[in-house]
Amino acid sequence: MAKGSGVADRLRMRLNREEGLKNLSQVVLDHAYVEGKPFSFKDHEYQIEIMNDTRQRIGVRKCSQVGLSELMIQKTLAVMTVMPNIRIIFTLPTKEMAVEFSKDRFDGAIVASDHYTAMVKAGDNSAGYKKIGDSSLYIRGTFGAKAAISIPAEMLMSDELDFSNEAVIGKLNSRIRHAQTEDEHGNRGYRYRFSTPTVHGFGIDLDFNAGDQRYYMCRCEHCETWVLPDFATDLIVPGFDDKMINFGREHLHDPKIDISKSWMKCPSCTKDLWSSLVQPSRRAWVAKRPDVWDHSYQVAPWDVPKYNTPPAIMKQVADYPLKSDFYNFVIGLPHSDNENTFNTEQTHKDRFCTVALWIFMNCVVLAPTVGGMDVGKTLHLTVKTKVSGGWHVIWMEKIRNTPDDPATLKIVERYDFYRMQKLCIDAGPDISLVNALVVAREGIKAVVYVQMNRSVIPVEEKTCGTVINADRTKTLKLLLEAHNSGNMWYPYDDKLKEDLYKHLKTTKKIREKNSNDEWVERFVKSDDNDHWVHSLNYANIAGLVVDMLGSTEVNYAPPAVSTTKLGSAVKEEKTDAHNTLQGLFGVSKRRR
Ligand SMILES: [Zn+2]
Repeated sequence: MAKGSGVADRLRMRLNREEGLKNLSQVVLDHAYVEGKPFSFKDHEYQIEIMNDTRQRIGVRKCSQVGLSELMIQKTLAVMTVMPNIRIIFTLPTKEMAVEFSKDRFDGAIVASDHYTAMVKAGDNSAGYKKIGDSSLYIRGTFGAKAAISIPAEMLMSDELDFSNEAVIGKLNSRIRHAQTEDEHGNRGYRYRFSTPTVHGFGIDLDFNAGDQRYYMCRCEHCETWVLPDFATDLIVPGFDDKMINFGREHLHDPKIDISKSWMKCPSCTKDLWSSLVQPSRRAWVAKRPDVWDHSYQVAPWDVPKYNTPPAIMKQVADYPLKSDFYNFVIGLPHSDNENTFNTEQTHKDRFCTVALWIFMNCVVLAPTVGGMDVGKTLHLTVKTKVSGGWHVIWMEKIRNTPDDPATLKIVERYDFYRMQKLCIDAGPDISLVNALVVAREGIKAVVYVQMNRSVIPVEEKTCGTVINADRTKTLKLLLEAHNSGNMWYPYDDKLKEDLYKHLKTTKKIREKNSNDEWVERFVKSDDNDHWVHSLNYANIAGLVVDMLGSTEVNYAPPAVSTTKLGSAVKEEKTDAHNTLQGLFGVSKRRR
């Protein structure tokens, strides 16, 4: 009967845990202190439901300055009080942030409370690890040394998800795979993630959309309607008549506009909503998708209305250089625009996927080109040529590359055929292909993505002559600008067009403040199908090398070659280009 009692024990333990978790807000009120005073939810009543939420998957998309980090610290400590032997991993974006957060916030919360102080085991309290009662808390950064953590855990909490290392966050998910708790939908362990959002379709925005989408609604005291105010339409700035999305820093100095008199209207009766927003009895969390199992919350600045008044919200326009920063940090919403996201609208496709066969044929005969290639099991090759006002991408091709059937010869053929001045290729992951190609043609270079802080020019040729260092962020930013400003034209091909724009959609630029309080930018991806983006970017780097580093080597290979030999450029063997090409943007057959 040992087995049976084991099951009963587990069930009892689970019940105890769930029972304990339901009363977390009471545990916090009983034991937590902040700056010498007992913890209180006053003016932060929105937090009570998030504190007591026992769902095993919770995502919180939030603005800054609403006390969310403090809430999660107190929730962590409360969980460790009610759930014996629990192991929690708490992550922050960087190692430095994790150390500071641990010493400043966690230790501060522990020292302030006699209850928690008594539970901490002396000698087991470092910045990265704390033993509280029988439970363990690991606090880690996702960027920096020792990011990887190989211990299994019951609970995983991630603060500022959007600014964290995606690969490490992904690995950490597997740490709760063997957790003891399992919910009705087979989710094991607890995963709480919260963050300021960045762009649409990335990080916390994905979690929020996947969950039941809770908003802290308000019952207007004038019309008694439950409403959800919207920054875009309900925040009124006297003297500003345009759409709110067009409000910028320049308007702060407009004498006609008075932000100190900003107010929020009720979307239903249009009367002032503020007197209702500040009454906790008129507020309630309501899920937009109540049928969805996982929970997600949107925290807006007016969910802490005492501190975030409409004038205080509008005043912060001055503090953020870009509109996306203001929307992300002050309003708590993702923001995508031309500055951070590739334009993938139908109108853009219609307008710029127009490079037709005759242009392409002309280029093969007349214009020199540059190329780029992303390397993997499938190679993604892009060839482009300069035109007035930008670039025409004249060839895009996927080429299979395996150890048994290496694509080396095919690539050299393309290089000669299009008379590329430079072909920049991904330095990894197929080092034997890269080595064979850079040896075969002088103009083929391997690109290593680096970070070049001081240099104005984002590319540099290494002294070995076969490697180009390119700043990843700066070159991708140039590509983004070229695409969105209409300086790039792509092949007129329906299938290719869809594939290309699908890849462009994955890659987005986010901004964050570094430890010196400076804004830094980084490109992230929402899925791994981003090969065309990098193929285009390597072609872009090839163009920069020719333009900026004053490369004068022009490859005078004829329009087509009948025989391609590795090791030396083939000259003087003219053939008819028309016969060589087997359909646009497919595979061009090697002539025999
Ligand atoms: Zn109303």
